[in-house]
Amino acid sequence: MTDIHERLRVRRVVNGVGTWTLYGASLASSDAVAATAAALGRSYVMAELHEAASRVIAEETGAEAGCVVACSAAGITLAVAAAMAGDDFARVRALPDTTGMRDEVVMLKGHVVDFGADVRQMVRLAGARVVEVGTATFCHPPMLAAAFGPRTAAAFYVVSHLCVLRGMPTLLEFVAAAHAANVPVVVDAAAEYDLRGFIAAGADLVIHSAHKFLQGPTAGILSGRRDLVRAVAVHQASGIGRPMKVGKEGVIGALAALDRWRRLDHAAERRADDAKLAHAARILAQVPGIATGIEEDTTGNPLARLRIDVDPESAGLDAEALGRALRGGDPVFATRDHLARLGYILLDPRSLDVAEVEEFCRRVREIVADAH
Ligand SMILES: *Cc1c(COP(=O)(O)O)cnc(C)c1O
Repeated sequence: MTDIHERLRVRRVVNGVGTWTLYGASLASSDAVAATAAALGRSYVMAELHEAASRVIAEETGAEAGCVVACSAAGITLAVAAAMAGDDFARVRALPDTTGMRDEVVMLKGHVVDFGADVRQMVRLAGARVVEVGTATFCHPPMLAAAFGPRTAAAFYVVSHLCVLRGMPTLLEFVAAAHAANVPVVVDAAAEYDLRGFIAAGADLVIHSAHKFLQGPTAGILSGRRDLVRAVAVHQASGIGRPMKVGKEGVIGALAALDRWRRLDHAAERRADDAKLAHAARILAQVPGIATGIEEDTTGNPLARLRIDVDPESAGLDAEALGRALRGGDPVFATRDHLARLGYILLDPRSLDVAEVEEFCRRVREIVADAH
């Protein structure tokens, strides 16, 4: 029997983007793969499994409780549903009809991002209305207070490199304003490394992706206040979350990923990733028109990427064309080329091994040679 990927004629991807959902997110760790496979062949009392998940997530995040959901986007919808309807059964069944409920979700205009989908649509899916505060580049904390009113169900804060990173209230300022108005704060930290800091900063519900830093299967991990987490579980099992529910394999896989995360030698991982970037920089130094530099992650995650600057004069093509050529062949060499218009692409080390780094550099050299 031929390999299913050959039969389907889907190309191999050398993943230099890291954890973008567009390329299937991270490479799952062997621990997560084994746990996910084992779970698929078993039956569970799902309520018991979710109880166990809550205990593990609480321990790893410092929150009162936790819940595994289908993905981070589903986590946004479910968090909003929980904030509006709680676990009141009639209300759980009524959504997305919000008659009689608080139905406004306040967020900063500078946080209205697109991670492949418009973040506001994930909020609206629950039946809520988004109230945007400030401008795309500025919001003074006192402006927040005016946004909260009798219809406010939640305040939503996004932590991401996609957000406008200046001119915005800090999470602490945001939490202070929301809590002064008795409004719970939901934080989307899907692609963030820190599992405890957002809870520690006072967030009421925090969303992490299981398939980004954690290298688990596709899933989302919610942590936070016990009453809100319980409501999330009810909405997922019996309400608006049902068509986006996580399966048993997602729950077990996410918990295995959390367990590995706790045991992981994070400093050694960082050293290995940095060594891959240094190796790539040394090889690429010999390619005409290519210059490299190290760029630290913009939201403070302990992670660097290789910035590959392309001088169109001497390379024979610009950064956009290089990114296009890299991802246009077989295998696909995927890089972060969202800033290619500024003259560079970024290489993320997390989903690459050393052989793939070398394969990538050879391909760059080949493309530049062909461009001359
Ligand atoms: C990736 C991401 C999402 C969506 O995550 P999925 O788990 O793929 O649904 C949402 N918000 C932010 C900030 C992200 O980075």
